[in-house]
Amino acid sequence: MDLFEYQGKQYFARYDIPVSPGGPADTVDEAVTEANNAGYPVVVKAQVQVGGRGKAGGIKLADNEAEVREHAENILGMVIKGHVVKRLWVERASDIDEEYYVSFTLDRAKKKHLMMLSAEGGVEIEAVAESNPDAIVKLHIDPVDGLSSEVARQACLDAKLPERAIEGATETIVKLYRCYTEGDCDLAEINPLILKPTGEVHALDAKVTLDGNAEFRHLEWEAFKGLTEMDTREKMAAEKDLQYIGLDGTVGIIANGAGLAMSTLDVVNQVGGSAANFLDIGGGANADVMAGALEVINFDENVKSIFINIFGGITRGEEVAKGIVEALSRVDLKAPIVIRLDGTNAEEGRHILADAGIPEEKLRSEATMLDAARAAVAIATA
Ligand code: GDP
Ligand code: MN
Repeated sequence: MDLFEYQGKQYFARYDIPVSPGGPADTVDEAVTEANNAGYPVVVKAQVQVGGRGKAGGIKLADNEAEVREHAENILGMVIKGHVVKRLWVERASDIDEEYYVSFTLDRAKKKHLMMLSAEGGVEIEAVAESNPDAIVKLHIDPVDGLSSEVARQACLDAKLPERAIEGATETIVKLYRCYTEGDCDLAEINPLILKPTGEVHALDAKVTLDGNAEFRHLEWEAFKGLTEMDTREKMAAEKDLQYIGLDGTVGIIANGAGLAMSTLDVVNQVGGSAANFLDIGGGANADVMAGALEVINFDENVKSIFINIFGGITRGEEVAKGIVEALSRVDLKAPIVIRLDGTNAEEGRHILADAGIPEEKLRSEATMLDAARAAVAIATA
């Protein structure tokens, strides 16, 4: 789950990482109230889940109420890289001496955490990586050892942070590591991490991705939900615990396993079609999951055919078939299904489908993935 900046800052605050006082606002009046609470000057910030908001005009300083009004009016409703600004974050503005970059992610190949630290923050880190890769210090951290203050301090020295920033940066980095590990983040990034003229080090931006697999032990994450930028289809799928991504083609896709789902997208493209979605029902999906998946796809007006591609391993063919039969009894599917059912208990599954007496124009079976893709695309483009 990706957090908005202000949610990321709320999360940082739980781990005692210094952030500016402020509050979220959905209207101009609310922005004024938050600005008055925070104290001037303030910064009015668009809350969208993309970087480069500053450059796009989504971040403005304001010295008084009139300026807050003006900026809030301009920024609310603004479209930044395809994201409509529906919410602002208004915080006390900070004086900045220097801007740094720090982040933690997992390096799967090395089976270690990866910290990246640079004295050249503020700008997009990809740009620094390209023009001046030596300016980024990369440090692998064994999760068993954790990150000590000594190691964090050495990283700050290696990154050539100035003497007066070392203490504050070290402390913040250690806190961010705690937030990242104990807080179960996939990504915890501060860009910029600033040095104030007073010598304090402070998080001015927050990019946090929470690890959905750890949700069971974080009841506090509930507060972050409901606001994430999902389209209606994605919301519906999330409620059913499905791995679903909405796309803009016409062939609805259901597959078991992310790898197979992606290959299915490729094959549909290869035969001249386009996918309406990516939907992985996972391993061991039962009839209920299949029925739920069909309901989500049925909700999409653009879907002209539904391609179900199952290669049973743990997932069993008869469960898939039962799910389809159940879905057809529960919902009136607008688009016909083309299914390729293979692997564990596929034969049994095909019998269940045949015995259900579903008319050919509602459901047809193809022996191979390619033939099924051709059939689904033919229906979608007819
Ligand atoms: P991003 O462009 O989406 O990454 O948004 P950021 O929150 O990182 O802000 C972009 C830039 O705006 C920062 O790098 C700062 O230079 C500037 N900025 C943001 N907040 C403040 C602030 O409180 N005071 C000052 N002077 N500049 C700010
Ligand atoms: Mn930033």
